Amino acid sequence: MAEDLDPFKIAQAQLDEAAEIMGLDDAAHQILREPMRTLTFNLPVKMRNGKTKVFTAFRVQYNDARGPCKGGIRFHPKESIETVKALSAWMTWKNALANIPYGGGKGGVICDPKTMNDYELENLSRAYIRALWKFIGPKQDIPAPDVYTTPQIMAWMMDEYSKIVGYNEFGVITGKPLEVWGSEGRNNSTAMGAMYVLREAAKYKKLKLKGATVAIQGFGNAGKFAFDLVTSMFGAKVVAISDSSGAIYSKSGLNYAKLSEMKSKSGELASVKGVDHISNAELLELGVDVLIPSAIENQVTGANADRINAKILLELANGPVTNEADKILSEKKVFDLPDFLVNSGGVIGSYFEWLQNTSGYYWKAEEVYSKLDEIITKSFNDVAKAHEAYAKSGKRISFRTAAYTISVDRVAKAMKYRGWY
Ligand code: GLU
Repeated sequence: MAEDLDPFKIAQAQLDEAAEIMGLDDAAHQILREPMRTLTFNLPVKMRNGKTKVFTAFRVQYNDARGPCKGGIRFHPKESIETVKALSAWMTWKNALANIPYGGGKGGVICDPKTMNDYELENLSRAYIRALWKFIGPKQDIPAPDVYTTPQIMAWMMDEYSKIVGYNEFGVITGKPLEVWGSEGRNNSTAMGAMYVLREAAKYKKLKLKGATVAIQGFGNAGKFAFDLVTSMFGAKVVAISDSSGAIYSKSGLNYAKLSEMKSKSGELASVKGVDHISNAELLELGVDVLIPSAIENQVTGANADRINAKILLELANGPVTNEADKILSEKKVFDLPDFLVNSGGVIGSYFEWLQNTSGYYWKAEEVYSKLDEIITKSFNDVAKAHEAYAKSGKRISFRTAAYTISVDRVAKAMKYRGWY
């Protein structure tokens, strides 16, 4: 039977597995299997041609037992409520694992930002906030950027919210430009956090990162900075990278400065000369030391997992590896580091931004990075310890399930103290 790729079913099955291993209370399990609140909006937006186009938008507030909901907003032509529900669940586990004082949430709008100009994107962003504003706020739910949303979009959203409530509320949204009180280091904090995880993972497996070969899927905020940092921090060699136009490969390594400059002029990798052109599928199957999927969900599935040839799989995207793939990868002894550990640097950076917005005192970049390192390194060690403790008691579980046991336990305990079950 073909694998069911509904991301929310995948997220629920991951929770079920952890719940079983932990002996989670039934009522807690039931609460955590579904979102606390699901919002769907119909947004009329004035387009450049004078016509009104109606967009469907979502915000899912998954759980707020540990604090306000927190998570990004995606603008994507294939956005769906199932995906947003899954992503909001994963945000809940991500924030709990990092042990930052948030629950989980996620938003999405079905739209194709590549075909929209700034006027239309601004109108859409403001319409989204006009629909959502009552349900968000620095103590309620704090959105942020995600796939195809940018600091500029966050600034428009913060402005619309501030206009509605009647005062400047910078802490309602994170990932803003520095000029409207974003945080130093937030732009690359997702990739930076992943690098700290990679450093710890390499230590754990006694692998050398200097000269290690790396393949990266995706050239968005996460993939682009991962390309830069994995070379500059560790001296690793990025041999392949992709964008939506295709993937490129060079045995001797690709040049970050040249490619990022080309991409910033809205170039496409498909047009790069002097390299081999391969497909996205081929990129995933390369024999490399480190594979970094940094695009979207369901990239490594039951259909291609047995052809993954990397030693370390660093899940920088949300949900890139399905449950069937998980089993195959563990048989193949690929060291798969779960998304909600690897990419938690983004929301940890957001947490710092929110703290700075609420206190009005702003930090230097070094302070952001050193605090991020401290939090994410502890998360890695917590997961490794849980993994080993289960192994000692005769239960062989993946790093993903080990991470789940920590997060679910934290959220369940908060719900218990609050008297929710
Ligand atoms: N969108 C990012 C994520 O998936 C960041 C979320 C945030 O900063 O709230 O983790």
